[in-house]
Amino acid sequence: MHSENITLDRLSRAIRDRIQPALATPVADLTVTAWHVPGEPVPAEVAFAAEYAPFAIGERWGRPWGTTWFRMRGASPPSARGRRVELMIDFGWTDRMPGFQAEALAYRADGTVIKAIEPYNNWVPVGDGEVDVYVEAAANPQFFGHNIVEFWPSPLGDPLTAGDEPLYRLAEARLVVRDEAVAGLLLDLDTVAGLVREESLDPTLRALATAALDRALDTLDGQGLDVKAMRAPLAPVLEAPATASAQRISAMGHAHIDSAWLWPLRESRRKVARTVANVLQLMDENDDLIHVMSAAQHWEWLREDHPALFERAVAASRFLPVGGQWVESDTVLPGGEAMVRQFAEGQWYFREHFGAISRVAWLPDSFGYSGALPQIVRQAGIDYFLTQKISWNRVNRFPHHTLEWVGIDGTSVFTHFPPVDTYNGELTVRELTYAAGNFREKGRATRSLLPFGYGDGGGGPTREMLARAARAADMEGLPRVRVEAPEEFFDAARAEYPDAPQWYGELYLELHRGTLTTQAAMKRGNRHSEHLVRAAELWATTAAVTLGREYPYAELRNLWRTVLLLQFHDILPGSSIAWVHRQARQTYGEVEAGLTALIDDAQAALAGDGPGAVVFNAGPIAVTGTPAGGAIPAAPVTQSPATATAIDGGGARLASDRTVVTLAADGTISSIVDVATGIEAVTPGGRAGLLQLHPDYPAHWDAWDIDGNYRATVEDVVDVRSITVTETGDAAVAVVERAFGASTARQSFTVRPGQAGVDVLIEVDWQERQRLLKLAFDVDVHADRARFETQFGHVTRATHENTSWDAARFEVAAHRWVHVGEPVGVALANDATYGHEVRRVSRPGGGMATSLRATLLRSPQFPDPQTDRGAHEFRFALVPAARPADAIAAGYRLNLPPVRRPGSHGVAPLVAQDGDGNVLIEAVKLAEDRSGDVIVRLYEAEGVPGRVTLRPSFAVGAITRTDLLERPVEGDGPVVTLRPFQIVTVRLHREP
Ligand SMILES: [Zn+2]
Repeated sequence: MHSENITLDRLSRAIRDRIQPALATPVADLTVTAWHVPGEPVPAEVAFAAEYAPFAIGERWGRPWGTTWFRMRGASPPSARGRRVELMIDFGWTDRMPGFQAEALAYRADGTVIKAIEPYNNWVPVGDGEVDVYVEAAANPQFFGHNIVEFWPSPLGDPLTAGDEPLYRLAEARLVVRDEAVAGLLLDLDTVAGLVREESLDPTLRALATAALDRALDTLDGQGLDVKAMRAPLAPVLEAPATASAQRISAMGHAHIDSAWLWPLRESRRKVARTVANVLQLMDENDDLIHVMSAAQHWEWLREDHPALFERAVAASRFLPVGGQWVESDTVLPGGEAMVRQFAEGQWYFREHFGAISRVAWLPDSFGYSGALPQIVRQAGIDYFLTQKISWNRVNRFPHHTLEWVGIDGTSVFTHFPPVDTYNGELTVRELTYAAGNFREKGRATRSLLPFGYGDGGGGPTREMLARAARAADMEGLPRVRVEAPEEFFDAARAEYPDAPQWYGELYLELHRGTLTTQAAMKRGNRHSEHLVRAAELWATTAAVTLGREYPYAELRNLWRTVLLLQFHDILPGSSIAWVHRQARQTYGEVEAGLTALIDDAQAALAGDGPGAVVFNAGPIAVTGTPAGGAIPAAPVTQSPATATAIDGGGARLASDRTVVTLAADGTISSIVDVATGIEAVTPGGRAGLLQLHPDYPAHWDAWDIDGNYRATVEDVVDVRSITVTETGDAAVAVVERAFGASTARQSFTVRPGQAGVDVLIEVDWQERQRLLKLAFDVDVHADRARFETQFGHVTRATHENTSWDAARFEVAAHRWVHVGEPVGVALANDATYGHEVRRVSRPGGGMATSLRATLLRSPQFPDPQTDRGAHEFRFALVPAARPADAIAAGYRLNLPPVRRPGSHGVAPLVAQDGDGNVLIEAVKLAEDRSGDVIVRLYEAEGVPGRVTLRPSFAVGAITRTDLLERPVEGDGPVVTLRPFQIVTVRLHREP
């Protein structure tokens, strides 16, 4: 055995038997009484007034999701006078791990908050003498842990199924006297032992550390613990300064709190309050702590629930807001304007409450980062971007930790991935040496960032972490650690590394690809809400400007904030427990009702009374005569209707002036011909609109992951119950009914006059487990890249597997459309689907064709055992002979179809545009400052230069440019010139 191991064994025993017991000496038991809250949590003043019953140590408490208030009374003995007395509580944690289980918040009898109680932070400072503490304890079920089978379906994820059996047992509640000298000794030993354990360190240093530990342990004998004597031999090791080449680590307190995940939103509100209480308590006793808290929503929850804590946190100069977002959202799925509002709402909130916006985007944990983000964050006043999630890649190791990340439009943002590879750092020797060794920029740059603190109800940074930071400030063998704000790190890191390497395009996460699909109702709710809110703002603005109607500022803000909250990176991705998604489905319904009421109100005013009908088009592209952003009286149809014919022996033919579609006897499309060009979209012998089933049983992370080997097994859904053809209005429709597994599906194929391609409606009653449903189109296109819409533009991705990076992108995100062509090809638009796959396949007769597939549904069982069971619908449009512009138009048509309503007046677009069709309006709203000015956001959609002239239909004083926060930037006048994918925001000043 190595001598180091003998020393470390001696140390373990000494800590267990002799040192740890000396840290906290029990001095008094407490009298405990309890009140079990009958339903959901109540405010503290309600709990204080409740009837408390006697409660014994060892007694069980905590039905799943229940709250128990404990009152703990007693007194420390005279012997404790002048010493540090703490209340120690053990709720009966099944696993000692930070967070993810029972937690509590402790109050004084006067109602003020003291601090939280968590597994690794289970003490409350009470002072000597009389003690009377109220403890609000939350019985949160545990879904991960050492004693739990990973990803096992659990009924605990919803109170409807969780039962009433108590989860915990109060194991300890007593007063102890804490010995700070022993605490210091333990951290000294921990640090020196850390050096001994690090095999990557200099052997001489490790030998010195080992010898120092031995000498310290030699001071122990049967007579007790002499802390001073034991610390003395350790001092030279701890005091030896860092070497000249030591890297610099900027560390800051942080707690990653998921806005909902394995607990509901209401529990995240309480997790935020508990963490903030801990941080403020720690700051009271420690001048070194700097703590950052992201998500304006979390600050707002704190302000609503605990105004006193909010005010203390805002007033604390070392407690900093960061990130500038409303929540740490997913960034792959949200639409362009929603991504803008994530930052605008966050930054406006920070400006209002802190007097300054954040310069750092803070997204340690979401599942990949869209290529549009650099432009969006820079236009939102942000200079720097932080994440570390890309270290979770399963195939390719990302080559940089510090980089200039260049977006699809060419904007770059200075970006850092903490090389410690965690956002829940503890500042151990292991972490610090790992971070330094892992840092890919070493030799060219010296600085990295390390957020420390337990997240998700672990309670944030601890006094032990701060003690480790102090020891690592300047110590041989370790990087130099300094506790400082993220901006200080970034300013210094950029200054020392002006030629940081560039990474172009999206940051694709080679993991968690299922989150593009899981919990389909989240995807539909998000997509639908994003388009409704666009329409609501447009028509409310039009009504305000043209009719002088009041603009619903407050309603729109609240609805936007709700949509933004639901884009949190475990809600929209579908990775939360059943309760979260059940509530979110209900909330999306409320959002729809609220936005629809605003739209109806504005449209009714604009259309006026009258016997006729008016067609409104909220989209940025004119549709069959209705101008973009305007309305016209409905006109009778003049085109000849499309025809539907059943084919003898099965199948059907649908024909319009634009498209002819042939359905085979199995109900799949065998041919789609564009009439004008004669181009056939379907591969010879291929099928389009084919439903395919795959097994979906990933190795880990059920709701999150689609593993690549799912493709090895496939079942084509081609059994047909019936095919019927109808002609309704001017449309020709074929309806195919199918059954498979325990599920049924109805596919409706529709062709209309004047409209290119075929619309596909799929209604599914989905009852599968651990299976995946795809919708496949064999298209006769040979292209090495495909375009996928993202925020304010598109990304291109390879259709081949030339590199391991291409191969890892076997399931990717698209927003409203996918286009494959060079550049004429095929477009596939959708109304609620994000997961896609575009691959080249062999073409019968030679050459290559393309397989284009959309991922409709999954059925994982963790964390929601019933994920996606039930009725769903999906709309697609397949357009043959399509250019990218056709894909864009089809995407808007499916998501923002023109709406017909009673009335007699047409509505001129508030802002019309002359010029290039590739420049589109994404938002029209009244200015945030309530000046009455109109804000118009434009973008270039095709990836080529664009130029338009804006023609407002109302009296305009001046036309100026702003950033996404509506602050002035350079440029003015009605002519707008855009670079490819550029976003431009225009303020139209109203004439008084
Ligand atoms: Zn997270």
